[in-house]
Amino acid sequence: MARRRPVIQERRFIQVAFFLLVLLIGVQFTVWVAAHRGGREPAVPRPAGVEGFLPISALMSVRLFLAGDGIHPVHPAGLAIFLAILAMSAVLAKSFCSLLCPVGAVSEWLGRLGRRLLGRTWELPRWLDLPLRSAKYLLLAFFVWATWVAMDLPAVRAFLDSPYNRVADVKMLLFFAEPTRLTVAVLGVLVVGSVLVRDLWCRYFCPYGALLGLVGRLAPLKVTRDAASCTDCQVCTRVCPARLPVHTLARTASVECTSCLDCVAACPVTDCLAVRPPAGWAAKKLLRPAAAVAVAAAVYLAVTGVFRLAGHWHGAVTGKEYARRIREIDSPLYTHVGGLAASEARLEEGRGATNRRQ
Ligand code: SF4
Ligand code: SF4
Ligand code: SF4
Repeated sequence: MARRRPVIQERRFIQVAFFLLVLLIGVQFTVWVAAHRGGREPAVPRPAGVEGFLPISALMSVRLFLAGDGIHPVHPAGLAIFLAILAMSAVLAKSFCSLLCPVGAVSEWLGRLGRRLLGRTWELPRWLDLPLRSAKYLLLAFFVWATWVAMDLPAVRAFLDSPYNRVADVKMLLFFAEPTRLTVAVLGVLVVGSVLVRDLWCRYFCPYGALLGLVGRLAPLKVTRDAASCTDCQVCTRVCPARLPVHTLARTASVECTSCLDCVAACPVTDCLAVRPPAGWAAKKLLRPAAAVAVAAAVYLAVTGVFRLAGHWHGAVTGKEYARRIREIDSPLYTHVGGLAASEARLEEGRGATNRRQ
């Protein structure tokens, strides 16, 4: 028991601390937007970290970066956070989900609430579980198709520079702060569903989790089992939130494993389950669970730190521009359709200028 507690406590401590940080960022951003909406000068600065909730914009920025455009100046912190999340999940498989994701944390807490209130949470039968798990990949495929296939590079540039994207963070806040009936209904179903069915959103519908699971397949650090010392007690399998048959696996290479390390903490045999790099690596020694968690968190801090130090944290949209756009945010220019129309117009303008130069 003595070696179980540290890793569980450390993971939960990081999870709660990051959740509180995100909450703080959310409150600060809400205060900042409310001041602009009321025509007042905000008493607090805009927290750039809010851009972590703009993964589509980040996906497009990645595409432009890979095409040689450099770091797009609109919402660069979103790109930094996106890459940091990918990087930490590529080192310790899908570790963003178990360590930092605020949605994952809420989902975990709702599941725990369900078990406390009802004595259990339900698992969907296998015939429904398997096809439903593909939903998150279909959503991921749709977003990749929409941003990497359906749009050419000039269209991506035009969208990132569009009025809609320049205030996408504010639009995202208003989406939740002033929800439609449909939004409330969907969120209600997800909250109640997460109390009844463990990890409902994460397991079946989150496209971000689907991407991190695929990236995590490449991760060198994974939970491994020492078959020689394993007693086949199956405690690890019983505690696994991803429902993996841990007691049968030499290495948990599944896209569903979030590196929560609950199995490692629960295993009664010392070092039978541990985080290890692949066999054949020079450093074959096991990594203490707490050290593995620290490595993943350090990768996140390192990537975002590099962006900060390089001056790519605060975007090009100035406070003055935000103030003007937030005043007119209810205009059609800032709806999806209006924003796309504006980016189309910008695209045509760009193509016209190119033609004139030729
Ligand atoms: S699956 Fe999605 S919502 Fe769930 S923890 Fe991972 S990234 Fe967060
Ligand atoms: S909990 Fe440990 S000893 Fe028991 S089956 Fe799993 S790996 Fe083997
Ligand atoms: S309990 Fe173990 S196998 Fe299951 S998700 Fe957590 S780390 Fe992965």
